[in-house]
Amino acid sequence: MSDYPELRLLVGGEVISASARETIDVLNPATGEAIAALPLATAADLDAALEAAKTGFAKWRKTSADEREGVLRRGAALIRERSKEIGAAITREQGKPLKEAIGEVIYCAMLLEFYAGECKRQYGRTLVRPDGQRVEVRHEPVGPVAGFSAWNFPALNVMRKIGGPLAAGCSVVVKPSEETPAGGLGIVQALIDGGVPAEVCQVVFGVPDEVSRHLLASPIIRKVTFTGSTAVGKHLAKLAAEDMKRTTMELGGHGPVLVFKDADIDKALDIMAGAKFRNAGQVCVSPTRFLVEEDVFERFRDGFVERAKAVRVGDGADAATQMGPMASARGPDGIQSKVADAVERGAKLSAGGNRIGNQGFFHEPTVLSEVPLDATIMNEEPFGPVALINPMKGEAEMVAEANRLPYGLAAYAWTQDVSRRMRLASDIEAGMIAINAASVSAADAPFGGSKWSGYGLEDGAEGVAACMQSKTVHENA
Ligand code: NAD
Repeated sequence: MSDYPELRLLVGGEVISASARETIDVLNPATGEAIAALPLATAADLDAALEAAKTGFAKWRKTSADEREGVLRRGAALIRERSKEIGAAITREQGKPLKEAIGEVIYCAMLLEFYAGECKRQYGRTLVRPDGQRVEVRHEPVGPVAGFSAWNFPALNVMRKIGGPLAAGCSVVVKPSEETPAGGLGIVQALIDGGVPAEVCQVVFGVPDEVSRHLLASPIIRKVTFTGSTAVGKHLAKLAAEDMKRTTMELGGHGPVLVFKDADIDKALDIMAGAKFRNAGQVCVSPTRFLVEEDVFERFRDGFVERAKAVRVGDGADAATQMGPMASARGPDGIQSKVADAVERGAKLSAGGNRIGNQGFFHEPTVLSEVPLDATIMNEEPFGPVALINPMKGEAEMVAEANRLPYGLAAYAWTQDVSRRMRLASDIEAGMIAINAASVSAADAPFGGSKWSGYGLEDGAEGVAACMQSKTVHENA
């Protein structure tokens, strides 16, 4: 297939192709058909990757900040140059519209450029005592990192696993999702072509639980970073605890959106409907529970339904498509059972609710309203194109509902009242809050959650700090 690359493992400078290993098929979610064979790493490959990561770390940690910055900038330039090609592969394996896929790749370059600059901002400090004693605080890279990422952002999730470690001076073994391998491979190949030594950044695929158990059992790995579900995050955190490895966990959410009657409702509708159906709702920070002050509830729900019905769903490779298929067969199956449960418990189905066609993994943009709190979908992340819209009595009730779940990733609020904005910024339990906005992500700002949505941060200066450990040296004159 011309717009989909040959898949491979990148282990310590060796490129291992599909013909050399057991394989699994990668599917195009728009058709359900296999588009490529993905090689799976053997235990010996994983051991080789660990040894290479050890050697790579010993070298990379000694490089100067300027050298690391230069290499990362060259990698970022190549990612920009290859953005259309990597984007096209992402659309084929994951389904999102091509424009979104290319935007994802460009964002990877922006993030890497920010991290490149951070290489030389890893300052230590020296405390000088009156008696001549000095205390030196040094920040050192934590060691080889194992990264595991999900399929919803095939390139960006991988960049978030490797960018901070590489800037800090760590080596990385990353396992992108087996369902969407090309996006991450494209990013890592650009970094290697830009000058990152092959032992410093490696890519493996396999049976996820077997790969993570193998890598985490090794004392070579000093940090684990994961993007995916809370259930798997808890499992990996337990494995990491066995060897006191550091962890960064970017897990699920259940984004509340508080819409007050004083808000610019049309603007809120335009922006939040766009955000809800982006990537078919398969976004960890997707807005999900719309908590709307009752005076404007009907207007908001009707406006949302109108926008949901207008979304053009189709193959992401088609330029007219606004929402592609879901990434795998699990997507529409999961949405169907959660919508049926909600309707059975009394929710109103205001738009969508059905699969589309019998080919690929398409699902209609869906709106449920007046959804009872005991419906599964009000408690478990739908991770699909479904908005839940409920009328609320006022700020106290809205904040209580926003905080009811154990998740705390992204939250959104729409209000013109400045005092209220300050209260919400303080009272909502979330790692990120957008007020009168939909974006919670910027290369120079930390990205991460609270409660069951995880801990540890990516992006921003914090993304590099998370890959450093401090050492304090006390010295007498
Ligand atoms: P999942 O956690 O089962 O899988 C996510 C990724 O983790 C996949 O690529 C999978 O291959 C990998 N994985 C699974 N088990 C693993 C293991 N034992 N060791 C290493 N890697 C492992 O989740 P899913 O059902 O595929 O995806 C949907 C859920 O993921 C959503 O409900 C959402 O909560 C979560 N998610 C969160 C984010 C985020 O940024 N926070 C992003 C994507 C998905």
